Amino acid sequence: MTTRLTIALASGKGGTGKTTVAVNLASAAAAAGYEVCYVDCDVEEPNGHLFLNPRIRRRYPANVPVPVVDSERCTACGACGEICQYSAIVCINKNVLTFEKMCHGCGGCQLVCPVAAITEKDRETGVVEEGEAGQIAFVHGRLNVGEAMSPPLIRAVRAAGQNKALNIIDVPPGTSCPVIAAIRGVDLVILVTEPTPFGLNDLDLALDMVKELGIPHAVVVNRSEPSNNLARNFCKEREVKLLAEIADDRRVAEAYSRGELAFWSAPGYQAVFDDLLSSIVKEARK
Ligand code: SF4
Ligand code: SF4
Repeated sequence: MTTRLTIALASGKGGTGKTTVAVNLASAAAAAGYEVCYVDCDVEEPNGHLFLNPRIRRRYPANVPVPVVDSERCTACGACGEICQYSAIVCINKNVLTFEKMCHGCGGCQLVCPVAAITEKDRETGVVEEGEAGQIAFVHGRLNVGEAMSPPLIRAVRAAGQNKALNIIDVPPGTSCPVIAAIRGVDLVILVTEPTPFGLNDLDLALDMVKELGIPHAVVVNRSEPSNNLARNFCKEREVKLLAEIADDRRVAEAYSRGELAFWSAPGYQAVFDDLLSSIVKEARK
């Protein structure tokens, strides 16, 4: 490969098998000779490591710069509170209060302070861990317990996992800020869904999100059955490309429950994920 590719595996909801697809794809890519990195951005509940068993080589914190107010300098002008969109700094009765856990670290308050009363300190939100699992480079993040602000950690994980020829991002479920932090700037988003009314409802929301962001995308149906046309009809109606279907197969679920990869342990699945990888790479290069 000559050009770097970053592919995100996302789903509108949890439980669609997104991580199963991502780790098996990373294994297929490594087996095919790609220089590949598996990047687990599901920092609230990372579980790709359970299947890949990486050797962690490097661990470092992901911080948010939060304001520190020098009360001696502060003139209680209120400018910092007015600029903050998150009410993370407020000026009440000539006192400035900061709420660190609500601060997004934008630096706006420091910029507008007319008397340079605001400096910054780092607040740790979680850790980034880097390593490798065989031929697969591995990065994930672990959000601190009780931490609500995951985008800074997700951005740190993305930054660490972008340098291989093929970077496979495991995106958190949903359609909110953490998802946007995980998919921003990728070459292709694969929306992994299951052919159920709930699955398609959440796929609908995820589709609106990637369209709004203008990111190329396609759908992969997991646990597909020949007689179930729900997802096929949905893709036709919404004019979204259905890239592949992965059959509902008990052996895949059994491999998952043992913490194994279907690519290695379920007969026939090397070809399944090799084909899926080829389709995804072809689609991403269009
Ligand atoms: S750095 Fe930004 S988000 Fe944090 S308190 Fe200042 S203005 Fe608000
Ligand atoms: S902008 Fe600066 S001087 Fe004004 S209230 Fe905030 S910290 Fe104080």
